[in-house]
Amino acid sequence: MKTKQKVKELDNSLVEAFKNQIRGELILPQDTTYDESRKIYNAMIDKHPGMLVMCADVADVMYAVNFGRENNLLIAVRGGGHNGGGLGLCDEGMVIDLSGLKFVQVDTNDSSVRVGGGNLWGEVDHATHAFGLAVPAGIISSTGVGGLTLGGGVGYLSRMYGLTIDNLLEADMVLADGSFVTVNEKQNSDLFWAIRGGGGNFGIVTSFKFQAHPVKNIIGGPSLWPIERIEEVMEWYHDFLNNAPDELNGFIATMVIPGPPFPEELHNKMFCGIVWSYLGDPAKQTEVFKPVMDMEPVFHHVGEMPYPSIQTMFDGMLPPGLQWYWRADYFDALGPEVRAKHLEFGSKIPTPLSQMHLYPISGAAARIGKEETPWAHRDAKYAGVIVGVDPDPANADKITDWCKDYWEALHPYSTGGAYLNFIMDEGQERIKASYKHNYDRLSRIKKQYDPENLFRVNQNIEPKN
Ligand SMILES: Cc1cc2nc3c(=O)[nH]c(=O)nc-3n(C[C@H](O)[C@H](O)[C@H](O)COP(=O)(O)OP(=O)(O)OC[C@H]3O[C@@H](n4cnc5c(N)ncnc54)[C@H](O)[C@@H]3O)c2cc1C
Repeated sequence: MKTKQKVKELDNSLVEAFKNQIRGELILPQDTTYDESRKIYNAMIDKHPGMLVMCADVADVMYAVNFGRENNLLIAVRGGGHNGGGLGLCDEGMVIDLSGLKFVQVDTNDSSVRVGGGNLWGEVDHATHAFGLAVPAGIISSTGVGGLTLGGGVGYLSRMYGLTIDNLLEADMVLADGSFVTVNEKQNSDLFWAIRGGGGNFGIVTSFKFQAHPVKNIIGGPSLWPIERIEEVMEWYHDFLNNAPDELNGFIATMVIPGPPFPEELHNKMFCGIVWSYLGDPAKQTEVFKPVMDMEPVFHHVGEMPYPSIQTMFDGMLPPGLQWYWRADYFDALGPEVRAKHLEFGSKIPTPLSQMHLYPISGAAARIGKEETPWAHRDAKYAGVIVGVDPDPANADKITDWCKDYWEALHPYSTGGAYLNFIMDEGQERIKASYKHNYDRLSRIKKQYDPENLFRVNQNIEPKN
């Protein structure tokens, strides 16, 4: 593989000509806005790109791809900048930033939504809510539509309406050769298949078209049990949720209650929590949650709210700029050994914001075939993630060690792969284990559309015939 050229080695006149070619801003290391513009959500990542291209339109994306390829630069593409491993940034090369590509257009004829490649999910939720619609997405509103969608997309609506990729109808893309294509079931269908889980490997998506669903309000909120009860709660949860109607979802967690708005007696204690979301008839709430109440949670605060409220419920607790360390795996069962490990590591959470979550991959998300999209582990019951989180960089080792130890203890009981949006940089073997039987097909499509691996700052799929 050819060594990449550094931006600082380029002739000034080349850079100047490129700057004049684009409508957006070109930010270089000497600019006063440089340090601010290279920040991403995870403050543990500190990368120094050679230039940031703040694209104003699709043409800017095309010019940037061409400039990067012709000058042999390392290219990173930034959507919402939320990726745990910092895959929206690179050192020395070019960052193509999509935050200027924002619009949300709701089509009430068929409840579809067209969204810019640089939108954040909160912007989409805001726009669709007015029409009583929602697109399945993740649980934090500041996450980018681009990275979350291209990796899969799990959240409160997964059991009812599937993953985000299961609701993708079409995308517009700029490919490695600088060309612009539209991909859907009929046009460039191989690429359309590949981007539904294959990440940013195949090109830069400048707009997405989603199927939205009738969701106005949702019944949701947390139930908590002291961490000492996690083994019995997890065993009950697995049976209860997997036999519940698709309308009910709930991710289970080990967590600390950091402070208000929770009652003071819960503060700084460790809990097994379930965050529920229910899309069924509000009149049935008491009946649906009776089995939960029978488990005698020490705290249960579940009620009806507008959908954007549940989507923003954790935003305040997790602002940008914290230190994050991520590890993940899929699980199909929560047997006694697994539950014992959750008790062990859930009882020594190192900082108030560090958590473990298991997101259900069941209901509608599990009814999509294992080869229908690259997202191969459709039969896993949960996408698990462990995050070590803290504002203080001095605690980086502490949160990293806990996260790694917790993961090591559970990994032998996993299905072998992980939801790639929940991991940092863990190398090819993990990527292959996550795509399983779909990896070879992805490699062939990569070879066809990006033979030189221009788009490599991602969970990389190697181009091969
Ligand atoms: C606090 C938090 C909560 C989260 N919760 C969830 C959740 O509930 N459900 C879930 O599924 N995931 C969740 N995630 C994970 C999230 O899906 C990933 O971090 C995802 O990569 C974020 O996308 P982004 O566009 O913000 O990231 P970026 O860092 O901008 O990009 C991530 C990757 O996607 C590529 N990319 C981004 N946009 C485009 C585009 N338009 N075209 C081509 N490539 C692109 C980038 O090149 C990079 O490789 C969460 C992450 C965080 C930090």
